[in-house]
Amino acid sequence: MPTSPIADRLAAVRSRVADAARAAGRDPGDVRLLVATKTQEAGAVLAAVDAGVDLIGENRVQELVAKAPALADRVASGTLEVHMIGHLQRNKINQVLATATGVETVDGTTLAHALSARCVRDGRTLDVMVQVNVSGEETKSGVGPADAAPLAQDVAALPGLRLTGFMTIGARLDARGEPADEATVRGGFARLRDIRDEVLASGAPGTAGARELSMGMTTDLELAVAEGATIVRVGTAVFGPRRP
Ligand SMILES: *Cc1c(COP(=O)(O)O)cnc(C)c1O
Repeated sequence: MPTSPIADRLAAVRSRVADAARAAGRDPGDVRLLVATKTQEAGAVLAAVDAGVDLIGENRVQELVAKAPALADRVASGTLEVHMIGHLQRNKINQVLATATGVETVDGTTLAHALSARCVRDGRTLDVMVQVNVSGEETKSGVGPADAAPLAQDVAALPGLRLTGFMTIGARLDARGEPADEATVRGGFARLRDIRDEVLASGAPGTAGARELSMGMTTDLELAVAEGATIVRVGTAVFGPRRP
C-alpha cells in the first residue's frame, strides 16, 4: 500500500494511464511511465524510484550531473533507466553519457554522429529516439515532421546507437497563437505515430526496433495514450508543482 505522498501520487498517475489505455482498447502494460525529474532534488527522485519507478527523464545536463551520484547504484545494477529528455548540446555529451542510458532528444545528424562516435569509442550501445517538433512551435526543439523519417533512417544506421522510437512534446499553442485545443494536440500525437509507422514500414537498416512513442505529459497524457503513446513522461502529477 502506498505510504508516502509521492507513492500515492504515483499510484494515481498509474491508474490514469491504465484508464486511458483501457478506454483506447489498449493493454495498460503497453504504456510505460517515465518520471520527469527536473528541479526535483535527488531525495525526491529516490523516493519515486523506491516506489517502483524504473525510468526517469532529466532535462538539464547540470541537474543530471548533480543527481548522478545518488542514482549510480541503481543505474549500474540495471534497475533504473535514465533518459535525457531535454535539448542536448554536443559539448555536453560526455557528461550525459556518464549516467544516461538513453537520449530521447536527437534532433539532427551532427548530434547523432557525435553520440555514435562516443559510444563506439566506449564500446557501448545507447538507446536513442528522434525528437520531432510536431506542432511547429518555434520555442520547441526537435526536427520538423517532414525531416523526421530521413533523420531516423540515418540515425538507425549509425554504429553504437539503437533507434528505439520517437519523442515529441504536445502542442501548447495552435497556429493562431491561441491555447491548443484537444484536436490540435491529438493531431500532433497522431502525426508522430504516422512518422513511426512510416519508418517501421520502410524496412531501412536498424529501424525494426523503432516502436516507441514517447509523448504525453501531466496535462495531455490521456490524449497521447489514445494516439498510441508507449511512454508517457510525467513530472507535476508525481511530484506536485515544480520549484522555481
Ligand atoms: C517537464 C517535462 C515533462 C513532464 O511535464 P509535466 O507537465 O510536469 O508532467 C515531460 N517531458 C519533458 C520534455 C519535460 O520537459
